[in-house]
Amino acid sequence: MSVPSEIEKDAHKLYVTWQDGHKSEYLFRYLRENCPCAMCRDEFTGERILDVATIASDLVSQRESVVGHYALAFSFSDGHGAGIYAFEYLREICLCPICDLNSSKNRTSHA
Ligand SMILES: [Zn+2]
Ligand SMILES: [Zn+2]
Repeated sequence: MSVPSEIEKDAHKLYVTWQDGHKSEYLFRYLRENCPCAMCRDEFTGERILDVATIASDLVSQRESVVGHYALAFSFSDGHGAGIYAFEYLREICLCPICDLNSSKNRTSHA
């Protein structure tokens, strides 16, 4: 189980410290690009429907809320806020070199 022990933010990034001591940081724009909602991502194939070129480079999160102890939701500055980011999912999309190594074998698309 991936559970955050601490969640912080600044103007552009979300910082998560996990209970196992791992630290992740996410640009809000990156979180928006990886929004898991049905409008942004195909429910069945997991493929991204969202055109990332339409996302403003200075996109931020205006508000974050914890959903039922298992996920985070964001109100992005483009008005979108439908995505429920399960902690497991957030940990999965962590971009740090350690996670990158561990997850590369599970990735489906290598463009
Ligand atoms: Zn979405
Ligand atoms: Zn990581």
